[in-house]
Amino acid sequence: MATIPKQEPSKPKPVSAETILDDSLSMVFENLDDGVMIINSDGTLLKANPAALRFHGLYEKEALLYSESPRSHFVMYDFEYNEIPFNSWPSNRILKKETIENEKIIVVNKETGKKLYARFSGKPQLDESDNFLFGVLFIKDISEQVNALMELEKEKNNRLIDHQNINYIQQQLDGNRQLLQTIIDTIPVMIVIYDKRIKQVTMNKAVEEITGWNNEDIQNADIMELAYPDPEIRSEVMQYMNSLEPGFKDIIMRTKDGRDIETSWANVKISDGRQVGVGIDITQRKKLENDLIQAKEKAEKENKVQTAFIQNISHEVRTPMNSILGFSELLQKSVENETEKHYLDAITYNGQQLLRLINDIVDFSRLDNNEMTLSIENIHIMDLINQTQNQFTSLKKKYNKAHIDLHVNSPVENHKHIFLYTDLYRLQQVLTNLVSNALKYTEKGEVEVGYYMRKNKQDVLFYVKDTGIGIKKEDHDRVFRRFNRFHRTNETEFRGTGLGLAICKHLVELLGGKIWFESENGKGSVFYFSHPFTIHNHRDKKNSQQEEQKNDSLPILENSTILIAEDDEFSFKMLNYMLKETKAHVLHAETGQEAVDLWKNNSVDLVFLDINLPELNGYQVIKSIRSDNKTIPVIAQTASALPRDKKKSADAGFNHHVTKPISMSELYSVLNKYTPDEINPGEK
Ligand code: ADP
Repeated sequence: MATIPKQEPSKPKPVSAETILDDSLSMVFENLDDGVMIINSDGTLLKANPAALRFHGLYEKEALLYSESPRSHFVMYDFEYNEIPFNSWPSNRILKKETIENEKIIVVNKETGKKLYARFSGKPQLDESDNFLFGVLFIKDISEQVNALMELEKEKNNRLIDHQNINYIQQQLDGNRQLLQTIIDTIPVMIVIYDKRIKQVTMNKAVEEITGWNNEDIQNADIMELAYPDPEIRSEVMQYMNSLEPGFKDIIMRTKDGRDIETSWANVKISDGRQVGVGIDITQRKKLENDLIQAKEKAEKENKVQTAFIQNISHEVRTPMNSILGFSELLQKSVENETEKHYLDAITYNGQQLLRLINDIVDFSRLDNNEMTLSIENIHIMDLINQTQNQFTSLKKKYNKAHIDLHVNSPVENHKHIFLYTDLYRLQQVLTNLVSNALKYTEKGEVEVGYYMRKNKQDVLFYVKDTGIGIKKEDHDRVFRRFNRFHRTNETEFRGTGLGLAICKHLVELLGGKIWFESENGKGSVFYFSHPFTIHNHRDKKNSQQEEQKNDSLPILENSTILIAEDDEFSFKMLNYMLKETKAHVLHAETGQEAVDLWKNNSVDLVFLDINLPELNGYQVIKSIRSDNKTIPVIAQTASALPRDKKKSADAGFNHHVTKPISMSELYSVLNKYTPDEINPGEK
């Protein structure tokens, strides 16, 4: 029998050392933490292990593809953030057969922005003839360490900054504290810090300087008891100190040397719950205030006495002037001799000058004391201009300037509708003053008066222009100040008070306008003043009355009885003379009581009643007359031409008001207006 050869169990084939090595290397290659890249002789990637792919965020295929044009996918920087040129990239340097050892490089993926901090090492593999076979690049990802380092650095920096800040703030605080302490110690203001019960009190140096009390004094004593010995005041002050009322309170404090001083305190609460009182010494200020109040009261009293005195003087001067001017007017009629006529002219001229001076002084004292009251009405602008023209004619006579004419310039298209809501008397006074000056200080040429509407300013701009001697530049500043006169005062025609323009300025401003001028020495001046306007199409009743024609022809009053109540002998005589030609029967009362008696016992047709009468004044007399008779004409006579006084007499029941001295023509026109037809036939 043939034996079947026994089959030996098959043994694993022995593995060669190379294979083992290959497998092991391949395992190491795959699992290595460091990236390994094998580079072809043309620079492209032959192989990359998973770690290398992970670092770059790529798949193997992508990595192989990217390696054909790596520049378009990556940028490389050194750790100083300088970009590494392409030919110095590790792969290219290996191609150039360089060896690389542990170089720190940042690789940035252009598409994803992913940043890899890595350490590169690498080596070329050459054959015996030194030809490049392939290159191996090792990449160690050190991003974690770098990031950790960077964090650490940042924190260090922050700490440094914080530290610097704290130092800075500390310095600032120290500086501020020092500054505050210096201020607290040197400021002449008392500063007291206290708790709610006002037991723990700290005071600054000013408290000691002002009151004498210091921090030592109050260690064993209660400052409140020291500074406010009166318990009532003390409790009031304590209440205030805890009330935190806003604002300052005036408090009287007792000083260490026993004086009472006036102080003023304010309180605030600070953040720690304590309170700060800040006080100043106002003793001196209070004294000054009191002195000022007393001085003001004294000045006001003196001013009042002065004003009353001036007004009284004015009255006392007017009464005799009344006689002087009246008698010289009467004498003008009877005197034939030319020289004597001349003397009479001089008396009249000087008398009028004196009256003007008195008026100016009274006006100025009123304006100075804010006692000037205005009587406001609607007036037509042309009334103002017409009156100015009339006055110019008499001013020409007065200043002997027949050769100087007045040129009036009014914008015709507008003036029909322009009304000024003003005090006619005062406005006229301004215009007359300016026109009078223009004439007075002009030797040749003309005077022009006119106005413009200034719609944008809602006012009328008046001007008075002359071609006279003008005012030197250096005097311009003083023109509107009282008592300033700039031309020779010894020449008769230049006489004046130096009050006119000061009064004009006051009045223009009181009426709501402004006054100014332009002037050139030797060439003339233009004075301007503005006044607010209103536009209307109607006139006030008052104004149409003003247009009423005056009849100043001699009235014949043969059958009438006129009662004159006048205590001044000369004023009565003058009126009596003036009435002589009217043939009226005149009764004379020297006191108010006499006037009432004469009125009661006679049939009287008209009364001239002085206001300042002894026993009963004019207002009391008319009251008595009006209780009997409402219609008899009673004419008031006063030294005052003010609208206010005219209104007062109208309110009291007077039919008319005349200002002393009354002229013949005014007396006749009053008589013509108020005597009934049957007494005064044919003169209406
Ligand atoms: P008065 O004319 O009474 O002296 P004013 O107050 O009216 O007082 O004027 C003050 C001064 O201003 C005058 O004395 C005069 O020197 C100067 N003055 C006023 N108006 C004119 C003018 N139109 N031309 C030249 N000088 C003038």
